[in-house]
Parts: sequence; structure tokens; C-alpha cells
Amino acid sequence: MYSDKDRRRGAAKTFLWFTEEVGELASAIAKNDKKNKEEEFADVLAWLVTLANVEGVNLEQAVKKFTAGCPGCGELVCRCDGKEP
Ligand SMILES: [Mg+2]
Ligand SMILES: [Zn+2]
Repeated sequence: MYSDKDRRRGAAKTFLWFTEEVGELASAIAKNDKKNKEEEFADVLAWLVTLANVEGVNLEQAVKKFTAGCPGCGELVCRCDGKEP
């Protein structure tokens, strides 16, 4: 949506925006405010995607590792029984 603007801002300032939104999400979770939590999850995701774009990382490709199943047991719903994958 804002790719020219995002590239001009650069990764360091984009990362600052991202961390600010993570802080806002922490506050929303602490207050247990459902509407505010939804807003802040969306903000965190938007800035994470923006940061990936600025850094030239294809996030869609990167998250595919999560669709291959648990690295420990290979199942989509982990059956590792308490062990960390
Ligand atoms: Mg926010
Ligand atoms: Zn597993």
C-alpha cells in the first residue's frame, strides 16, 4: 500500500514503528480490552509485513515452514507430548 514511503523510511525506523505497536499490544492485553486487542494485533501484523517488505523478505514464502507440520513429529497438530519441537 505504501511501498515507496516504506522504502524511504527504511528498516531502522520501520522497526521502531513495529516495536511501538508491540508495546501497544502489550498494553491492550494487560487491560484485556477486546476491541483494542484486535486493533493492536492488526497494527503489529501490518508493521511486521511492512518490515519484511522493506527488508526484501517474502513473508508468504517464509511462513510456509509452518504449513509443513511440526518439525518434531511432522503432524499439523503437534503430538510431541510436552517436548519442545
Ligand atoms: Mg497501534
Ligand atoms: Zn510435534
